Amino acid sequence: MKVLVLNSGSSSIKYQLFRSEDWVAIAFGQVARIGEAEGELKLNWLDGDGNPQSRQETPAIPTHQEGIDHIVAGLRASGALADVSELAAIGHRVVHGGPNFKHPVIVDDAVEAEIRGVVPLAPLHNPGHLAGIAVARRLFPTVPSVAVFDTAFHQTMPPTAYRYAIPEFLYTEHRIRRYGFHGTSHGYVAKRAARVLGKPLEQCNLITLHLGNGASAAAIRSGQCIDTSMGLTPLEGLVMGTRCGDIDPAVLIYLGKNLGLDAEAQDQLLNRQSGLLGICGVNDMREIEQLAADGNARAELAIGITVHRLKKYIGAYYAELGRVDAIVFTGGIGENSLGIRRRACEGLERLGIALDEEANASRESRGERCISASDGEVKVLVIPTNEELEIARQALAAVGG
Ligand code: AMP
Repeated sequence: MKVLVLNSGSSSIKYQLFRSEDWVAIAFGQVARIGEAEGELKLNWLDGDGNPQSRQETPAIPTHQEGIDHIVAGLRASGALADVSELAAIGHRVVHGGPNFKHPVIVDDAVEAEIRGVVPLAPLHNPGHLAGIAVARRLFPTVPSVAVFDTAFHQTMPPTAYRYAIPEFLYTEHRIRRYGFHGTSHGYVAKRAARVLGKPLEQCNLITLHLGNGASAAAIRSGQCIDTSMGLTPLEGLVMGTRCGDIDPAVLIYLGKNLGLDAEAQDQLLNRQSGLLGICGVNDMREIEQLAADGNARAELAIGITVHRLKKYIGAYYAELGRVDAIVFTGGIGENSLGIRRRACEGLERLGIALDEEANASRESRGERCISASDGEVKVLVIPTNEELEIARQALAAVGG
Protein backbone atom coordinates (compact mmCIF):
# COMPACT_ATOMS: atom_id res chain seq x y z
CA MET A 1 0.00 0.00 0.00
CA LYS A 2 0.94 3.66 -0.27
CA VAL A 3 0.50 6.67 1.96
CA LEU A 4 0.26 10.21 0.62
CA VAL A 5 1.41 13.01 2.94
CA LEU A 6 0.08 16.49 2.29
CA ASN A 7 1.34 19.69 3.91
CA SER A 8 -1.13 22.30 2.73
CA GLY A 9 -0.32 25.95 3.30
CA SER A 10 -2.34 29.02 2.38
CA SER A 11 -0.92 29.13 -1.17
CA SER A 12 1.07 25.91 -1.53
CA ILE A 13 0.76 22.16 -1.04
CA LYS A 14 3.83 20.00 -0.45
CA TYR A 15 3.44 16.26 -0.90
CA GLN A 16 5.29 12.96 -0.53
CA LEU A 17 4.12 9.53 -1.53
CA PHE A 18 5.50 6.62 0.53
CA ARG A 19 5.52 2.92 -0.20
CA SER A 20 4.55 1.38 3.13
CA GLU A 21 6.49 -1.88 2.61
CA ASP A 22 9.87 -0.15 2.90
CA TRP A 23 8.87 3.47 3.60
CA VAL A 24 10.71 4.74 0.52
CA ALA A 25 9.41 8.10 -0.74
CA ILE A 26 8.64 7.18 -4.33
CA ALA A 27 7.41 10.64 -5.28
CA PHE A 28 7.52 14.13 -3.80
CA GLY A 29 7.09 17.73 -4.84
CA GLN A 30 4.82 20.70 -4.47
CA VAL A 31 2.33 23.02 -6.04
CA ALA A 32 2.87 26.65 -5.12
CA ARG A 33 1.50 30.11 -5.85
CA ILE A 34 -2.08 28.86 -5.69
CA GLY A 35 -4.42 31.68 -6.72
CA GLU A 36 -1.80 33.62 -8.70
CA ALA A 37 -1.83 34.11 -12.47
CA GLU A 38 1.03 31.67 -12.84
CA GLY A 39 1.35 28.71 -10.51
CA GLU A 40 4.27 26.40 -9.84
CA LEU A 41 4.20 22.63 -10.13
CA LYS A 42 7.20 20.51 -9.15
CA LEU A 43 7.03 16.74 -9.48
CA ASN A 44 9.80 14.31 -8.54
CA TRP A 45 9.52 10.55 -8.68
CA LEU A 46 11.47 7.32 -9.01
CA ASP A 47 11.02 5.56 -12.34
CA GLY A 48 10.64 1.80 -12.74
CA ASP A 49 14.42 1.34 -12.35
CA GLY A 50 14.52 3.45 -9.21
CA ASN A 51 16.14 6.41 -10.97
CA PRO A 52 15.06 9.93 -9.93
CA GLN A 53 13.02 11.87 -12.48
CA SER A 54 11.49 15.34 -12.30
CA ARG A 55 9.17 17.73 -14.10
CA GLN A 56 8.36 21.39 -13.58
CA GLU A 57 5.49 23.42 -15.01
CA THR A 58 3.84 26.76 -14.41
CA PRO A 59 0.10 26.25 -14.92
CA ALA A 60 -2.44 28.54 -13.28
CA ILE A 61 -3.61 26.83 -10.08
CA PRO A 62 -6.69 28.80 -8.97
CA THR A 63 -7.58 26.77 -5.86
CA HIS A 64 -6.40 23.93 -3.61
CA GLN A 65 -8.74 21.62 -5.53
CA GLU A 66 -6.80 22.20 -8.78
CA GLY A 67 -3.56 21.89 -6.82
CA ILE A 68 -4.41 18.42 -5.55
CA ASP A 69 -5.77 17.52 -9.01
CA HIS A 70 -2.35 18.39 -10.47
CA ILE A 71 -0.55 16.34 -7.82
CA VAL A 72 -2.71 13.27 -8.42
CA ALA A 73 -2.46 13.63 -12.21
CA GLY A 74 1.33 13.87 -11.87
CA LEU A 75 1.47 10.80 -9.61
CA ARG A 76 -0.66 8.86 -12.10
CA ALA A 77 1.32 9.97 -15.18
CA SER A 78 4.62 9.06 -13.52
CA GLY A 79 3.33 5.63 -12.57
CA ALA A 80 4.00 6.30 -8.88
CA LEU A 81 0.31 5.84 -8.17
CA ALA A 82 -1.55 3.73 -10.73
CA ASP A 83 -4.88 4.03 -8.93
CA VAL A 84 -6.25 5.83 -5.89
CA SER A 85 -7.27 2.43 -4.48
CA GLU A 86 -3.54 1.89 -3.74
CA LEU A 87 -3.73 4.59 -1.07
CA ALA A 88 -4.16 3.29 2.47
CA ALA A 89 -4.38 6.79 3.92
CA ILE A 90 -3.68 10.45 3.32
CA GLY A 91 -1.73 12.02 6.18
CA HIS A 92 -2.24 15.75 6.64
CA ARG A 93 0.19 17.88 8.59
CA VAL A 94 -1.80 20.14 10.93
CA VAL A 95 0.24 22.69 12.85
CA HIS A 96 -2.25 23.46 15.63
CA GLY A 97 -4.47 20.86 17.22
CA GLY A 98 -5.52 22.99 20.18
CA PRO A 99 -5.94 21.46 23.64
CA ASN A 100 -7.77 18.23 22.74
CA PHE A 101 -5.87 16.30 20.08
CA LYS A 102 -3.29 14.08 21.73
CA HIS A 103 -2.91 11.65 18.82
CA PRO A 104 -3.42 11.55 15.05
CA VAL A 105 -7.10 11.19 14.13
CA ILE A 106 -9.10 10.12 11.10
CA VAL A 107 -10.81 13.29 9.91
CA ASP A 108 -14.60 13.43 9.98
CA ASP A 109 -16.84 16.49 10.06
CA ALA A 110 -16.44 16.89 13.82
CA VAL A 111 -12.63 16.78 13.58
CA GLU A 112 -12.68 19.30 10.75
CA ALA A 113 -14.87 21.57 12.86
CA GLU A 114 -12.48 21.29 15.80
CA ILE A 115 -9.46 22.16 13.61
CA ARG A 116 -11.47 25.13 12.34
CA GLY A 117 -12.16 26.09 15.95
CA VAL A 118 -8.46 26.60 16.63
CA VAL A 119 -7.89 28.81 13.56
CA PRO A 120 -7.65 31.90 15.84
CA LEU A 121 -4.64 30.22 17.51
CA ALA A 122 -2.92 29.48 14.17
CA PRO A 123 -4.32 31.89 11.59
CA LEU A 124 -1.35 31.45 9.23
CA HIS A 125 -1.45 27.66 9.17
CA ASN A 126 -4.75 25.96 9.96
CA PRO A 127 -6.83 27.57 7.16
CA GLY A 128 -4.46 26.12 4.53
CA HIS A 129 -4.55 22.69 6.20
CA LEU A 130 -8.34 22.80 6.24
CA ALA A 131 -8.47 23.66 2.54
CA GLY A 132 -6.27 20.64 1.74
CA ILE A 133 -8.23 18.32 4.02
CA ALA A 134 -11.59 19.39 2.57
CA VAL A 135 -10.43 18.79 -1.00
CA ALA A 136 -8.82 15.44 -0.17
CA ARG A 137 -11.98 14.22 1.57
CA ARG A 138 -14.13 15.37 -1.36
CA LEU A 139 -11.87 13.94 -4.09
CA PHE A 140 -11.09 10.65 -2.30
CA PRO A 141 -14.13 9.74 -0.18
CA THR A 142 -12.91 6.14 0.15
CA VAL A 143 -9.41 7.01 1.42
CA PRO A 144 -9.21 8.02 5.09
CA SER A 145 -7.67 11.43 5.70
CA VAL A 146 -5.66 11.47 8.92
CA ALA A 147 -4.70 14.69 10.69
CA VAL A 148 -1.28 14.56 12.36
CA PHE A 149 -0.76 17.49 14.71
CA ASP A 150 2.48 19.36 15.44
CA THR A 151 1.11 20.00 18.92
CA ALA A 152 0.16 16.40 19.81
CA PHE A 153 3.56 15.21 21.07
CA HIS A 154 3.64 18.04 23.62
CA GLN A 155 0.26 17.20 25.11
CA THR A 156 1.97 15.23 27.88
CA MET A 157 3.37 18.45 29.39
CA PRO A 158 2.14 19.08 32.93
CA PRO A 159 0.18 22.28 33.66
CA THR A 160 3.23 23.66 35.46
CA ALA A 161 4.96 23.74 32.06
CA TYR A 162 2.03 24.61 29.81
CA ARG A 163 0.27 27.31 31.86
CA TYR A 164 1.31 30.94 31.68
CA ALA A 165 1.28 32.98 34.87
CA ILE A 166 -1.64 35.14 33.70
CA PRO A 167 -5.26 35.35 34.93
CA GLU A 168 -7.07 32.02 34.94
CA PHE A 169 -9.94 33.10 32.64
CA LEU A 170 -7.50 33.60 29.76
CA TYR A 171 -6.80 29.87 29.96
CA THR A 172 -10.30 28.60 30.69
CA GLU A 173 -12.20 30.92 28.33
CA HIS A 174 -9.62 31.71 25.65
CA ARG A 175 -7.39 28.58 25.69
CA ILE A 176 -4.29 30.71 26.15
CA ARG A 177 -1.60 28.26 27.26
CA ARG A 178 1.59 26.81 25.88
CA TYR A 179 1.07 24.15 23.20
CA GLY A 180 4.46 23.60 21.58
CA PHE A 181 5.17 22.79 17.93
CA HIS A 182 7.54 20.69 15.79
CA GLY A 183 6.11 17.79 17.82
CA THR A 184 6.27 15.35 14.93
CA SER A 185 9.98 16.06 14.57
CA HIS A 186 10.75 15.92 18.31
CA GLY A 187 8.82 12.65 18.57
CA TYR A 188 10.55 11.14 15.54
CA VAL A 189 14.11 11.98 16.60
CA ALA A 190 13.37 10.83 20.16
CA LYS A 191 12.37 7.40 18.83
CA ARG A 192 15.45 7.23 16.63
CA ALA A 193 17.68 8.39 19.52
CA ALA A 194 16.36 5.56 21.70
CA ARG A 195 17.42 3.11 19.00
CA VAL A 196 20.89 4.64 18.79
CA LEU A 197 21.16 4.49 22.60
CA GLY A 198 19.98 0.87 22.54
CA LYS A 199 17.29 1.51 25.17
CA PRO A 200 13.50 1.49 25.10
CA LEU A 201 12.19 5.02 24.53
CA GLU A 202 10.27 4.73 27.83
CA GLN A 203 13.63 4.66 29.64
CA CYS A 204 15.16 7.62 27.83
CA ASN A 205 15.56 11.18 29.12
CA LEU A 206 16.39 13.46 26.22
CA ILE A 207 16.84 17.09 25.26
CA THR A 208 15.89 17.39 21.60
CA LEU A 209 16.90 20.50 19.66
CA HIS A 210 15.11 21.08 16.35
CA LEU A 211 17.17 23.88 14.82
CA GLY A 212 15.98 24.98 11.40
CA ASN A 213 14.52 28.19 10.09
CA GLY A 214 12.01 27.62 12.89
CA ALA A 215 13.63 26.26 16.05
CA SER A 216 12.48 24.64 19.26
CA ALA A 217 13.76 22.54 22.14
CA ALA A 218 11.97 19.79 24.05
CA ALA A 219 12.62 18.09 27.38
CA ILE A 220 11.62 14.43 27.22
CA ARG A 221 11.35 12.30 30.35
CA SER A 222 10.81 8.55 30.02
CA GLY A 223 9.93 9.09 26.35
CA GLN A 224 7.29 11.75 27.04
CA CYS A 225 7.50 15.49 26.51
CA ILE A 226 7.52 17.45 29.77
CA ASP A 227 8.46 20.86 28.39
CA THR A 228 9.10 22.62 25.12
CA SER A 229 10.24 26.07 24.11
CA MET A 230 7.42 27.15 21.77
CA GLY A 231 4.23 28.36 23.37
CA LEU A 232 0.77 29.53 22.34
CA THR A 233 2.28 30.04 18.90
CA PRO A 234 5.60 29.08 17.30
CA LEU A 235 7.06 32.47 18.29
CA GLU A 236 8.27 31.68 21.82
CA GLY A 237 11.64 30.20 22.72
CA LEU A 238 14.82 29.97 20.70
CA VAL A 239 16.15 32.55 18.25
CA MET A 240 14.90 31.63 14.75
CA GLY A 241 15.45 32.72 11.15
CA THR A 242 12.95 35.59 11.32
CA ARG A 243 11.27 35.05 14.73
CA CYS A 244 12.51 36.65 17.93
CA GLY A 245 11.78 33.80 20.35
CA ASP A 246 11.67 34.75 24.04
CA ILE A 247 11.15 38.43 24.66
CA ASP A 248 9.90 40.61 27.51
CA PRO A 249 6.15 40.99 26.76
CA ALA A 250 6.47 44.62 27.77
CA VAL A 251 8.34 45.21 24.50
CA LEU A 252 4.95 44.86 22.77
CA ILE A 253 3.37 47.38 25.15
CA TYR A 254 6.26 49.74 24.46
CA LEU A 255 5.92 49.30 20.69
CA GLY A 256 2.20 50.02 20.90
CA LYS A 257 2.49 53.05 23.16
CA ASN A 258 5.61 54.68 21.80
CA LEU A 259 5.90 53.59 18.16
CA GLY A 260 2.17 53.33 17.50
CA LEU A 261 2.48 49.79 16.15
CA ASP A 262 -0.84 47.94 16.01
CA ALA A 263 -1.24 44.18 16.46
CA GLU A 264 -0.66 43.45 12.76
CA ALA A 265 2.56 45.48 12.68
CA GLN A 266 3.79 43.83 15.90
CA ASP A 267 3.04 40.42 14.43
CA GLN A 268 5.04 41.24 11.28
CA LEU A 269 7.92 42.68 13.29
CA LEU A 270 8.35 39.77 15.69
CA ASN A 271 7.47 36.88 13.34
CA ARG A 272 8.98 38.04 10.05
CA GLN A 273 11.55 40.76 10.66
CA SER A 274 13.27 39.56 13.85
CA GLY A 275 15.48 36.62 14.80
CA LEU A 276 18.69 36.20 12.82
CA LEU A 277 17.32 38.48 10.09
CA GLY A 278 16.60 41.25 12.55
CA ILE A 279 20.01 41.06 14.19
CA CYS A 280 22.24 40.84 11.12
CA GLY A 281 20.05 41.29 8.03
CA VAL A 282 20.35 37.65 6.90
CA ASN A 283 18.28 34.65 8.01
CA ASP A 284 20.24 31.81 6.43
CA MET A 285 22.68 30.29 8.93
CA ARG A 286 25.12 29.14 6.23
CA GLU A 287 25.49 32.70 4.99
CA ILE A 288 25.70 34.06 8.53
CA GLU A 289 28.52 31.66 9.42
CA GLN A 290 30.41 32.74 6.31
CA LEU A 291 29.88 36.42 7.12
CA ALA A 292 31.05 35.87 10.70
CA ALA A 293 34.14 34.03 9.46
CA ASP A 294 34.87 37.07 7.27
CA GLY A 295 34.75 39.32 10.33
CA ASN A 296 31.17 40.66 10.16
CA ALA A 297 30.37 41.70 13.74
CA ARG A 298 26.57 41.62 13.36
CA ALA A 299 26.69 38.08 11.99
CA GLU A 300 28.90 37.05 14.91
CA LEU A 301 26.44 38.66 17.33
CA ALA A 302 23.52 36.78 15.68
CA ILE A 303 25.34 33.49 16.25
CA GLY A 304 26.27 34.56 19.77
CA ILE A 305 22.67 35.35 20.76
CA THR A 306 21.46 32.11 19.15
CA VAL A 307 23.98 30.01 21.08
CA HIS A 308 23.40 31.91 24.33
CA ARG A 309 19.65 31.15 24.15
CA LEU A 310 20.27 27.55 23.18
CA LYS A 311 22.54 27.02 26.19
CA LYS A 312 19.95 28.53 28.51
CA TYR A 313 17.43 25.95 27.33
CA ILE A 314 19.88 23.07 27.59
CA GLY A 315 20.62 24.13 31.16
CA ALA A 316 16.96 24.63 32.05
CA TYR A 317 15.88 21.29 30.62
CA TYR A 318 18.81 19.53 32.25
CA ALA A 319 17.60 20.91 35.58
CA GLU A 320 14.02 19.81 34.85
CA LEU A 321 15.06 16.30 33.84
CA GLY A 322 17.72 15.70 36.49
CA ARG A 323 19.30 12.96 34.42
CA VAL A 324 19.92 13.25 30.68
CA ASP A 325 20.79 10.31 28.42
CA ALA A 326 21.31 12.33 25.27
CA ILE A 327 21.11 15.72 23.63
CA VAL A 328 19.81 15.40 20.08
CA PHE A 329 20.51 17.91 17.31
CA THR A 330 18.22 17.97 14.27
CA GLY A 331 16.86 20.37 11.60
CA GLY A 332 18.89 22.14 8.90
CA ILE A 333 21.17 23.88 11.41
CA GLY A 334 21.27 21.08 14.00
CA GLU A 335 22.17 18.50 11.37
CA ASN A 336 24.69 20.59 9.46
CA SER A 337 26.25 23.35 11.53
CA LEU A 338 29.17 21.91 13.43
CA GLY A 339 29.94 25.41 14.74
CA ILE A 340 26.55 25.85 16.41
CA ARG A 341 26.75 22.34 17.88
CA ARG A 342 30.26 22.98 19.20
CA ARG A 343 29.41 26.33 20.73
CA ALA A 344 26.15 25.09 22.26
CA CYS A 345 28.00 22.28 24.07
CA GLU A 346 31.11 24.28 24.99
CA GLY A 347 31.83 24.56 28.71
CA LEU A 348 29.22 21.99 29.72
CA GLU A 349 31.75 19.31 30.70
CA ARG A 350 30.65 19.52 34.34
CA LEU A 351 27.21 18.40 33.15
CA GLY A 352 28.76 15.38 31.44
CA ILE A 353 28.42 16.98 28.01
CA ALA A 354 31.54 16.93 25.85
CA LEU A 355 31.94 16.67 22.09
CA ASP A 356 34.39 14.56 20.15
CA GLU A 357 35.71 17.40 17.99
CA GLU A 358 36.61 15.09 15.14
CA ALA A 359 33.23 13.34 15.09
CA ASN A 360 31.46 16.71 15.26
CA ALA A 361 33.49 18.10 12.37
CA SER A 362 33.30 15.00 10.18
CA ARG A 363 31.41 15.63 6.99
CA GLU A 364 31.58 12.02 5.91
CA SER A 365 28.44 10.84 7.62
CA ARG A 366 25.19 12.66 7.05
CA GLY A 367 23.15 10.03 8.84
CA GLU A 368 22.39 9.32 12.48
CA ARG A 369 25.56 9.64 14.53
CA CYS A 370 27.01 10.08 17.98
CA ILE A 371 29.39 13.03 18.29
CA SER A 372 30.10 13.02 22.03
CA ALA A 373 33.48 12.19 23.58
CA SER A 374 33.74 8.57 24.59
CA ASP A 375 33.90 9.47 28.30
CA GLY A 376 30.97 11.91 28.05
CA GLU A 377 28.20 10.81 30.40
CA VAL A 378 25.57 12.45 28.18
CA LYS A 379 25.57 11.28 24.58
CA VAL A 380 25.33 13.98 21.93
CA LEU A 381 23.55 12.74 18.82
CA VAL A 382 22.84 14.14 15.37
CA ILE A 383 19.63 12.65 14.01
CA PRO A 384 18.28 13.88 10.65
CA THR A 385 14.58 14.55 11.06
CA ASN A 386 11.93 13.25 8.69
CA GLU A 387 8.55 14.72 9.55
CA GLU A 388 6.86 13.49 6.37
CA LEU A 389 7.89 9.89 7.02
CA GLU A 390 6.64 10.15 10.60
CA ILE A 391 3.31 11.61 9.39
CA ALA A 392 2.99 8.74 6.88
CA ARG A 393 3.68 6.13 9.56
CA GLN A 394 1.30 7.71 12.05
CA ALA A 395 -1.40 8.03 9.38
CA LEU A 396 -1.10 4.36 8.49
CA ALA A 397 -1.15 3.38 12.18
CA ALA A 398 -4.28 5.50 12.70
CA VAL A 399 -6.14 3.51 10.04
CA GLY A 400 -4.98 0.26 11.60
CA GLY A 401 -2.24 -0.49 9.06
P1 AMP B 1 15.35 23.86 7.86
O1 AMP B 1 14.29 24.88 8.19
O2 AMP B 1 15.34 22.70 8.81
O3 AMP B 1 15.36 23.45 6.42
O4 AMP B 1 16.76 24.57 8.12
C1 AMP B 1 17.14 25.71 7.40
C2 AMP B 1 18.38 26.31 8.06
O5 AMP B 1 19.44 25.34 8.07
C3 AMP B 1 18.90 27.53 7.34
O6 AMP B 1 19.25 28.53 8.28
C4 AMP B 1 20.16 27.00 6.67
O7 AMP B 1 21.10 27.99 6.47
C5 AMP B 1 20.63 26.00 7.68
N1 AMP B 1 21.62 25.10 7.11
C6 AMP B 1 21.46 24.19 6.13
N2 AMP B 1 22.64 23.61 5.81
C7 AMP B 1 23.58 24.19 6.61
C8 AMP B 1 25.00 24.04 6.77
N3 AMP B 1 25.69 23.19 6.02
N4 AMP B 1 25.61 24.81 7.71
C9 AMP B 1 24.93 25.69 8.45
N5 AMP B 1 23.59 25.88 8.34
C10 AMP B 1 22.92 25.14 7.44
